[in-house]
Amino acid sequence: MARVALVTGGTRGIGAAISKALKEAGHNVAATYGGNDEAAAKFTEETGIATYKWSVADYDACAEGIARVEADLGPIDVLVNNAGITRDAPFHKMTREQWQEVMDTNLSGVFNMTHPLWPGMRERKFGRIINISSINGQKGQFGQVNYSAAKAGDIGFTKALAQEGARYGITVNAICPGYIATEMVMAVPEKVRDSIISTIPVGRLGEPEEIARAVVFLAADDAGFVTGSTMTVNGGQYLA
Ligand code: NDP
Repeated sequence: MARVALVTGGTRGIGAAISKALKEAGHNVAATYGGNDEAAAKFTEETGIATYKWSVADYDACAEGIARVEADLGPIDVLVNNAGITRDAPFHKMTREQWQEVMDTNLSGVFNMTHPLWPGMRERKFGRIINISSINGQKGQFGQVNYSAAKAGDIGFTKALAQEGARYGITVNAICPGYIATEMVMAVPEKVRDSIISTIPVGRLGEPEEIARAVVFLAADDAGFVTGSTMTVNGGQYLA
């Protein structure tokens, strides 16, 4: 069945692939972004998908933004919490700001987006929440204490909320991508990239579309028995 789906950070990288794949699967999609107007305009021009700008780190902005999307498209049944940032530094050099920004966006952002949508999903007895966590939330990563903690938090959030949603037809799942060929990863020097690839059994980086495919599966009406799961999509790099 066609649903209204909202993808945070849905205009670039993995999120853009998710937005497109959900549209191709027949859903009516809204893609949000944080500040890059140029990328968002280009994305809408290419895909015809409506974009909305607000920060997931701001609870009130999320509640207002969600109300705007629902006024335009109808009740949101599928939420993909994909927006995320990195502020890497070894712990002894990590500032409180670096810690806080990552927690606010990558962990509180998931709360801020899910909480205003929850009552409507409970009432309608249907919902699909898909949280994009990370391999580094599963295994930890040098220089990413903030990011690994937030992404691990997303997995805990998923497991706890799945239990609350189950009786209401709401599933809550996490996807943990490994290294995906987005701008961020392609900007890494080739030598470093090659050394990363040498640790991936499949022998290559993942494609954003490979994460999108997993999202489309979890978003479907007939995926109702899959909840509280952590889906690992990492080319075999880390076997959780
Ligand atoms: P990108 O940096 O390419 O895109 C991030 C998206 O999130 C952009 O649309 C950006 O908006 C948006 N965004 C960032 N901060 C905010 C905010 N405060 N409010 C609203 N939107 C915001 O990221 P990727 O595609 O690489 O990553 C997507 C997700 O996948 C992230 O959660 C990331 O942690 C996770 N991930 C990525 C991996 C990878 O290899 N790339 C591996 C594992 C996990 P704008 O365009 O306005 O900046």
